[in-house]
Amino acid sequence: MSRFIRDYVRERWVILAPRRGERPLQFSENLKYRPKGNPRSCPFCPGNEHQTPPEVFVIPGEGGNSDWKVRVVPNKYPIVEGEEGVHWVIIETPDHYATVGNMPHQQVLMILKTYRERLLALKERFPYAMVFKNRGPEGGASLSHPHSQLIALRLIPDAVRREMEVYQRGCPICLLLEREGDGANLVFSSENFVVLCPSFSAFPFEVWIVPRQHLPSFEESPDEILEELARVYKRTMAALDRAVDFPSFNMLLRSRPFSSNSDYHWRMEIAPRLTKPAGFEWGTEVAVNILEPGRAAEILRRHLE
Ligand SMILES: [Zn+2]
Ligand SMILES: [Zn+2]
Repeated sequence: MSRFIRDYVRERWVILAPRRGERPLQFSENLKYRPKGNPRSCPFCPGNEHQTPPEVFVIPGEGGNSDWKVRVVPNKYPIVEGEEGVHWVIIETPDHYATVGNMPHQQVLMILKTYRERLLALKERFPYAMVFKNRGPEGGASLSHPHSQLIALRLIPDAVRREMEVYQRGCPICLLLEREGDGANLVFSSENFVVLCPSFSAFPFEVWIVPRQHLPSFEESPDEILEELARVYKRTMAALDRAVDFPSFNMLLRSRPFSSNSDYHWRMEIAPRLTKPAGFEWGTEVAVNILEPGRAAEILRRHLE
């Protein structure tokens, strides 16, 4: 039977409709991520640095110019530029074929440190910024080389404003941890993080990485927290890739807008793109999820390393 579930974080309804997904694990090939392109012609591969705009940040390797660990460059086809904001691409690794799930821990850590450094670099210039990642054709990625993006804006988007209003009634993320932090929707947890499939997941296998501590800003995280987050993020992605065979996905790193001193609880949200929101969802802002979050969590638990 289908049923309405309230998403009390994003203030919207989700319809859980498992009968629409009686074949939930047989997602079609074009919803998956398969590395494409050729390192020789890929603009994000080492040796082709001249094909991107000049870098705004780099973590260098030991060798020369083409030896780097992470690069950040302006997006060649920006969503925003000038007064409206900035749009950067974070090239996560020189390895065209890597994934967060299978790259070395140190590389994942360098990616997270780059997110932190770049957010801090924008803090005084813009009221709002978000790091996100699109992977695979259904995730909206145009290049398959591992990369994420950072967009800063001159204003705070409506969805973020609405979310901050929720905090006036108490923290919805602390409530989520209290309600679901150790039950059927838990995937795993560590000293400082809880990984779970929220009851109000909008997508099959939606999974959130939530710090236990009620802290507003990811970019204020000390090294030891990023160290632990790198392990947790890698383990989560590896389980998802094994469970669903490298799905297209979107990852959002949600942190408090720079210009706000509202209450907030930062987190990472990962949403595989295995189903396509269409007319009903667009017209109603009601999400339709075909997989019970408890079942998604159980499948992910079976694929943990
Ligand atoms: Zn490449
Ligand atoms: Zn909280």
